[in-house]
Amino acid sequence: MSKIQRRAFLAESAAIAAASTAVLVGSKQAAGGDSSFMNNVPDPLLSEKDLPNFKFPLEKSQGKVIGGSFGKEVTVKQLPISTGIAGVSMKLDVGAMRELHWHATAAEWGFVLGGRVRTTVVSPRGTSETNDFEPGDVWYFPRGHGHMIQCLGDKPCYFVLIFDNGYFSEFGTFSITDWIGHTPKPLLAKNLGLPESAFDSFPKSEVYFARGAVPPEKPPIPLQGSKLPRQSHKFQLLAQPPTVENQGGRLWQVDSTTFPISQTITGAILDLEPGALRELHWHPTADEWQYVIAGKISVTLFGSGGRYRIETLEQGDAAYIPQGYGHSIENVGSGTCRVLIGFNSGVYEAINLSQWIAGNSADVLATNFGEPATLVDRLPHNSVVIAAEDGPPGKEKESISRRRRRSRTN
Ligand code: MN
Ligand code: MN
Repeated sequence: MSKIQRRAFLAESAAIAAASTAVLVGSKQAAGGDSSFMNNVPDPLLSEKDLPNFKFPLEKSQGKVIGGSFGKEVTVKQLPISTGIAGVSMKLDVGAMRELHWHATAAEWGFVLGGRVRTTVVSPRGTSETNDFEPGDVWYFPRGHGHMIQCLGDKPCYFVLIFDNGYFSEFGTFSITDWIGHTPKPLLAKNLGLPESAFDSFPKSEVYFARGAVPPEKPPIPLQGSKLPRQSHKFQLLAQPPTVENQGGRLWQVDSTTFPISQTITGAILDLEPGALRELHWHPTADEWQYVIAGKISVTLFGSGGRYRIETLEQGDAAYIPQGYGHSIENVGSGTCRVLIGFNSGVYEAINLSQWIAGNSADVLATNFGEPATLVDRLPHNSVVIAAEDGPPGKEKESISRRRRRSRTN
């Protein structure tokens, strides 16, 4: 290829790439984010005769403690099966701040459990957004975007973080003090326009949790003034009506279709009444990460080839379900349970057992199970999603919850 031919070829490929990207942006997102879910290389851990452990008692772990603040994490190191998602439980004491940092290899999704939280996140476009959060609120920070997390008011705050990479460690983030503390002072002076001596008293190593005064109630303006991004990093999940609601429980869910910036993570809160069941199902395009906020649950995992494993999780325990693996969640405690669920996909997808069955004819089901058509016809004709202690919602109950949903959207 001559130089000119090559230039023409490159220009043409660039134009084709640009055009196809423009077409793809819409359709790709609708179809389930990027193609990174197509992880076709077998995971040795999932190829054994038995399924590996998929539970980790996160709150019982030690983590990193500085003063009254802590961070506890579950990554592949603590839970080898969890290659797709890492999780963190964090407490910030009054006046404490998780210092300015970024993650080279993970986006961050946060859910506030208690107290009030303020975050500021800076994007490559030079925008900056500060948001205040209360329990039930969610944030999403894209991979690599710089951010900080601060405790607001005179009570500590608690939140759970999910990262779309199980190899990511919250203790290996890129922190501003670590960076500045290891950069030569002449370089800092040239970069930031202060005399070298001004950096003498800066921290020499990573601060991680910084301590200071309780922040002002009204968010202060950044040094650069106000330059807000187009898409907000905040979503008030529990302030919305549930996505699913019946006698057995409630499910709140948020992905990029309602929270556009959350391109790689879907989050959900599942409340189950005693004895209720989030039915058998699987997720075609995402791994799942679970954290028990309240109560006691039994989680089943089906891994093909007769492999089946059941774990009981209590408050503060985390669990992991690999992409495409069958599973269910059942409330085995005495009160209502609440589970935080995260997925490493920006578009939520699931197939429920009942929905799968209902999508086939009685004739097919009869042959498959070797049962009479009269029996298989009594299987659910609709997706169950959540079954109460005494079984799936009846037809009458179902129509009530449908009417409710309809009136809410009107
Ligand atoms: Mn972070
Ligand atoms: Mn699931």
